[in-house]
Amino acid sequence: MFDAHRHYGSSMSENALYATSSRYEWELLSSLTPPALGGIGALADNPLPEIEAFEQILKTFPDFQIAEVGLDRRFPEIEQQEAFLKDTLALAYELGRSVSLHCVKEDGRMLSLLRSLQPNLPVLLWHGYTGSWETAQEATKLGVILGYGSRLFGSKLAREGKRLVTLPYALETDFQMGDYSQILWTQIENFSKLSGCTHDELIRNNDEIRTILTHNTSTRRGTGRTPS
Ligand SMILES: [Zn+2]
Repeated sequence: MFDAHRHYGSSMSENALYATSSRYEWELLSSLTPPALGGIGALADNPLPEIEAFEQILKTFPDFQIAEVGLDRRFPEIEQQEAFLKDTLALAYELGRSVSLHCVKEDGRMLSLLRSLQPNLPVLLWHGYTGSWETAQEATKLGVILGYGSRLFGSKLAREGKRLVTLPYALETDFQMGDYSQILWTQIENFSKLSGCTHDELIRNNDEIRTILTHNTSTRRGTGRTPS
């Protein structure tokens, strides 16, 4: 199954979007082989790069997406984070790349920013979404795809149960370490129980989301390989 958001680990060639959160990780992306997808990203726990650095790497690597960027109240200078995100969204729209959003306790600010940029928004995935059902509905009106990771199950959002699949969504592991296949299948299994969807339906849905996330750039589609 396509994993909509993961980080590095033992395997670098899974059918997954490999997210980075600082420029120090970008170099690793060049060693990815299909069906793995590279995502350049930057979060404010490290100094944010110049937008020109993003532009340069995206133009050099036409298959790269943007993952992950966003707003995080735990990190300093939220206005600067917002300005960087705004520039990144404009660049992504211009270059036809998808953007995976990271958001911690800034859901309102995120929605306002996205609304202000309408209709010139790139394809968006709100990674690790655990916010309110109302915000989820508002976000999807803006074209946002919700990324459901393992933290979903401990959040209030899980109470929505079967309703969760009535909005556009993708499953993700946000993998950092451990047994990747195990973590991926646990996610599929748990979400299958919560949503009432079969494994096949979940796998098919994620494959469709992969196509959406890469529609402008990918000339080398994944093979739909699943772990055994
Ligand atoms: Zn992540």
